[in-house]
Amino acid sequence: MTLHLPSIPDAVTGDLAAIGRFAAARGWVPATSGNFSRRVDAGHIAITRSGIDKGAIGASDLIVVALDEPLPAGVSAETPLHVARYRRNPAIGAIVHVHSVAATVLSRADEGQGSVTLHGFEMHKALHGFTSHETDVQLPIFSNGQDTEALARRVEAALPDDPPVPGYLLSGHGLYAWGATMDDARRHLEGLEFLLQCSLEERRIR
Ligand SMILES: [Zn+2]
Repeated sequence: MTLHLPSIPDAVTGDLAAIGRFAAARGWVPATSGNFSRRVDAGHIAITRSGIDKGAIGASDLIVVALDEPLPAGVSAETPLHVARYRRNPAIGAIVHVHSVAATVLSRADEGQGSVTLHGFEMHKALHGFTSHETDVQLPIFSNGQDTEALARRVEAALPDDPPVPGYLLSGHGLYAWGATMDDARRHLEGLEFLLQCSLEERRIR
């Protein structure tokens, strides 16, 4: 049992409030959907509560979660997906999740192929490790599930230790992205969203 949970530093609250405003302004977290988290220390994260407006996150909207303890009440239902990523890779400092139209539509359209393949876009270079538009970005797609503990196990079993793309899609649901810092996670989110929107537009005019 955890006796002392760390308090949430103001910088962490500020990061989570800022990413919430950023995503809400773009229409990526409609109807209180989406969730955001940031590492507080090696064993703890701060994550958004369930059902809050992601465009107006304050200190009281965040909960500290110990990565090796049972989840506290009130956290987002998708907290197991965050916790599993942080446990898997100690270098991850922030995880962001949105329910955008492009992620939702393309994850359904390409679920049978297991990934959305993005080809030839300069924006590939927004993703850590990508240095050219000539390297395809293959964004994995997993079927959705309401048992998020089981879903997290399924996702982590399929992902390699060091995934080439810092994100994945849940079919008919949305996009997860992460990074070493909140700035990295936000750049990955924005880059992947841009790529998905381009792909969606191209399919429309084809
Ligand atoms: Zn979600």
